[in-house]
Amino acid sequence: MPFFNIYIERENMDFYQPILCSCCGKYGRYEAYIEYHVLRFFCIPLFTVKKKFFAVSTCCNNIYLIKNREKGFMIKRKQGYNVFLLEKDLEPLSENGCHGTDAAF
Ligand SMILES: [Zn+2]
Repeated sequence: MPFFNIYIERENMDFYQPILCSCCGKYGRYEAYIEYHVLRFFCIPLFTVKKKFFAVSTCCNNIYLIKNREKGFMIKRKQGYNVFLLEKDLEPLSENGCHGTDAAF
């Protein structure tokens, strides 16, 4: 399928959550963005095949996948002020030299 391709589009969401970072131990905040995987035919977008929500910690730039899609959609609907992301809602994608509880052998 040489004419079809997947294009990844990123959209920042209006979200701000102050945190005491469990990774670097500093005060920071989570910001959130959404990633669309759009199937295109040449340059014409056809439809979105995948939609994923991410949170980034501003203190150490760790990226987390927001596993709780309900919360992701709430942020997307501009109800981010009602959302509080917990550690269990997030799956760390990068470690950046941090040692989370899972990584401590
Ligand atoms: Zn941090």
